[in-house]
Amino acid sequence: MLKQHTGKGIYQTMQKAKLGIDELETELLIRYVVKEEEYEEALAVIDRFSHHPVAVNVFRNYYAELPEGREEMACDLRVIAEKQGAFLFALKTTAHRYLYFGSDEMVHYIGDYRQGLNDEEILHYFGFKDVATFTKKTAGSIDQLPSLDKQTLAPSCVVCGVAVGEVHILGCPVEQCPWCEGQLNRCNCRFDQLGVEEMTDEELLERFEEVLDQKGRIVFKPEQNPSYPTTGEDPGLDMKRD
Ligand SMILES: [Zn+2]
Ligand SMILES: [Zn+2]
Repeated sequence: MLKQHTGKGIYQTMQKAKLGIDELETELLIRYVVKEEEYEEALAVIDRFSHHPVAVNVFRNYYAELPEGREEMACDLRVIAEKQGAFLFALKTTAHRYLYFGSDEMVHYIGDYRQGLNDEEILHYFGFKDVATFTKKTAGSIDQLPSLDKQTLAPSCVVCGVAVGEVHILGCPVEQCPWCEGQLNRCNCRFDQLGVEEMTDEELLERFEEVLDQKGRIVFKPEQNPSYPTTGEDPGLDMKRD
């Protein structure tokens, strides 16, 4: 006979196993669909939406069903309309756009984004008078539509990860110099401020941090984030004058 605590332990193990399978499924689905070199990026996209269960379900549904049979990576998800926890989504893949309906209960693939929305029931539910009003709203680039992406909701520095209003980690290439307003880890102000030609030791680095704090460092603002990828640019100060 099982003792009570053993029973509880088995229950927890089962819960954990279930969670494990769920996670594995999405990752496996992605692995089947995307090119090997895109796999990490595809996972990162889902991770950006991991706080939003409906969005995660739409991505899962996309990878499980591949509506048009095209094996493409899902890149983004934008909100066209929202009502009482139900969403009308634009899903962007490498080369295509799709329309999805999603709620806590279900995910429904509507069709190709460019073909518009002809389902009157869905149109009216989301308050679109007719197909024309919907087409007007979705005529521009889907990048103009609101995102549920974590980065958009709570932006942080793409390189050092600090939140809005915080000081960057010293050496972050996104930090602006308070003297010249250039890139702090690349400009020559630190040599001017310290009166040296080279940063030769830790002590100079500490002194620089002091004068920097006295001047007042420029904290992270969302608009400082570069819109181009910064991968490969390692944080760090240039130790020698250019
Ligand atoms: Zn930073
Ligand atoms: Zn400077």
